[in-house]
Amino acid sequence: MARRKKIYEGKAKTLYEGPEPGTIVQYFKDDATAFNAEKKDVIEGKGVLNNLLSEHFMVGLGAVGVPTHFIKRLNMREQLVRSCEIIPLEVIVRNYAAGSMTKRLGIEEGTAMPRPIVEYCYKDDKLGDPLVTEEHIAAFGWASQQDMDDIIALALRVNDFLSGLMYGVGIRLIDFKIEIGRVFDGDFQRLVVADEISPDSCRLWDIETGQKLDKDVFRRDLGSLTDAYTEVANRLGVMPKQSTPMTKPTLIN
Ligand code: C5P
Repeated sequence: MARRKKIYEGKAKTLYEGPEPGTIVQYFKDDATAFNAEKKDVIEGKGVLNNLLSEHFMVGLGAVGVPTHFIKRLNMREQLVRSCEIIPLEVIVRNYAAGSMTKRLGIEEGTAMPRPIVEYCYKDDKLGDPLVTEEHIAAFGWASQQDMDDIIALALRVNDFLSGLMYGVGIRLIDFKIEIGRVFDGDFQRLVVADEISPDSCRLWDIETGQKLDKDVFRRDLGSLTDAYTEVANRLGVMPKQSTPMTKPTLIN
């Protein structure tokens, strides 16, 4: 059997060359990292849950006209995606204060934002993904003004879609991070939502109890990460159905 070519190994995913030119196989690992990989663990089943959840979100986005890199899920840990050139920015949308915003600005966790706030971090692990402004992005040529207009529009559409989807299952979307890729159709480029959308990259709180159902459970040692992600998957109905037990065969004489 031919060995496939590994393109890149990240903290939570490995990318392999896909079967057709312009495609990539995205493999979801069980590795969990936080605080720029200072805290690490292997959480059995996390990769499967994130694969299923990311598929669910990407397919839903596609259905409402938000372009993504997603093509199809291949198996419980892998999905086929369009290869794209990742813009070196983490695009964060915040609906309520949490995480680095509470630390940076001293705003109490859970405070509602007056409107969704879009932030950008420069993707560089060695620098700890620093917050940057549109001035840096333009000056260093990471994205053009047209790209930025498209990125903000995409980020806000993803926010509206995900907020509504999660609200429908009793979960508040506090914030999330997406990555944006460029795909080229001949001379034309399009921007698409790339990478993954999962409880690793979102903050999700139960609307009634405030219980955290995202990676903060791991970051802050709040209990079982698998239980939290399984709860999200169950509420959204993305857990694979248990196969129904086979009935006893009837013997015919
Ligand atoms: O840490 P911070 O509060 O800035 O994170 C904002 C959102 O972006 C959170 O949902 C977090 O999970 C996500 N994020 C991410 N990857 C990073 C940094 C943040 O998915 N490298």
